[in-house]
Amino acid sequence: MKIHEYQARELLAGAGIPVPAGAMVESVEHAVAEATRIFESGTPEVVVKGQVHAGGRGKAGFVKLVKSAQDARTAANFMLSNRMVSVQTGPEGLDVRKLLVAAATDIAKEYYLAITVDRMRKCNVLIASAEGGVEIEAVAERNPAAILKLPIHPTLGLQPYEARDMAFRLGFKGKQVGQAVDLMMRLFALFCAKDASMVEINPLVVTPASATHPDGRVVALDAKFQFDDNALFRHKELEALADPAEENAAELRAQAFGLSYIALDGSIGCLVNGAGLAMSTMDIVKLHGGEPANFLDVGVSASEEAVTEAFRIILSDTRVEGIIVNIFGGIMQCDRIARAIVLSAKNVGFSVPLVVRLEGTNVVEARRILQDARAELPTMQVATDLTDAARKICAAVRERAAVSAR
Ligand code: GDP
Ligand code: MN
Repeated sequence: MKIHEYQARELLAGAGIPVPAGAMVESVEHAVAEATRIFESGTPEVVVKGQVHAGGRGKAGFVKLVKSAQDARTAANFMLSNRMVSVQTGPEGLDVRKLLVAAATDIAKEYYLAITVDRMRKCNVLIASAEGGVEIEAVAERNPAAILKLPIHPTLGLQPYEARDMAFRLGFKGKQVGQAVDLMMRLFALFCAKDASMVEINPLVVTPASATHPDGRVVALDAKFQFDDNALFRHKELEALADPAEENAAELRAQAFGLSYIALDGSIGCLVNGAGLAMSTMDIVKLHGGEPANFLDVGVSASEEAVTEAFRIILSDTRVEGIIVNIFGGIMQCDRIARAIVLSAKNVGFSVPLVVRLEGTNVVEARRILQDARAELPTMQVATDLTDAARKICAAVRERAAVSAR
């Protein structure tokens, strides 16, 4: 699960990490009112930032520094009436419904700081760079040595001496060192306490020297969080931060029915029971020249209604040109899947080729149900095994494409 920057800033502030004050607004008028209030408090510059679950906003024009209420209006109006297209969104972009309006922070230098899970090392890893900012991806590509990585011990956690060492390697000076160490320690504690899988602060900034802070202040200017969905049950406070407008509608529907569904870019819809079987089904579809349109694990105990919903979700994806059903009935009974197929044929209708491979518990009954419903399933082919199923669906989809190209 992801959250918005304005929510992330609240989490950071709650953990004692310095973030600029700001307010979330959902209309141009509110943005102007908030900007006016900040200007009247004596701050010369305001930043207006689109709130979406994707980065790359700066380059896409969805982070704007403004010096007047009129410019705040123009910026807010632009952001709320254009979709944001960035390197992280795909060409269709994202709708922007929320803005963060905040006092702008003066920046002396930008850094990058993140914590995530390193699956190869099987531990959390702190990632940092003195070359933070909107070009971080280019830095990682051009000059990977500028990205510092610190594996964090699974039980000891981040040690203060390690954070200090990192602060020195990043080039923090004087009082900045203590501030950076404090921030890293607090961030790691927050990351663990919330079962996060990723937190990224880019940029982490040092502000210019001032009378009260001769070495400047270390402040988090941007923050992105990802939380482990499997740990959300013990974080009701995080669940409340979810923004349904930012989620894939089909994925939300699937969730409500207890299905694990992830939309992908291909054209072959997959309905499978078990995550491992789903992965291997996707692999074998690709092996035979197809591209999976989704990952869908109906699990072991899905009801007939849930499986029917699964078909509805797959069929409502306009990119789907064929469906492969691969069930190995253990606890899941094949006849339940067969009944759901027949029900879906009645309720939704299979307008695209359907290849079914069933094996295991109650498979004889399942085959009989499908055989009896043949008339309602004109696009269905039955496969003998997984390879046969993958071949058949890929061939059917290719044939369909050839026909429509004629
Ligand atoms: P992202 O592009 O989605 O990661 O959005 P960020 O919040 O990181 O903003 C992008 C860039 O805008 C930052 O790297 C900064 O250079 C700049 N920026 C953002 N907020 C401020 C601010 O308060 N003051 C100044 N001077 N620059 C800012
Ligand atoms: Mn950023």
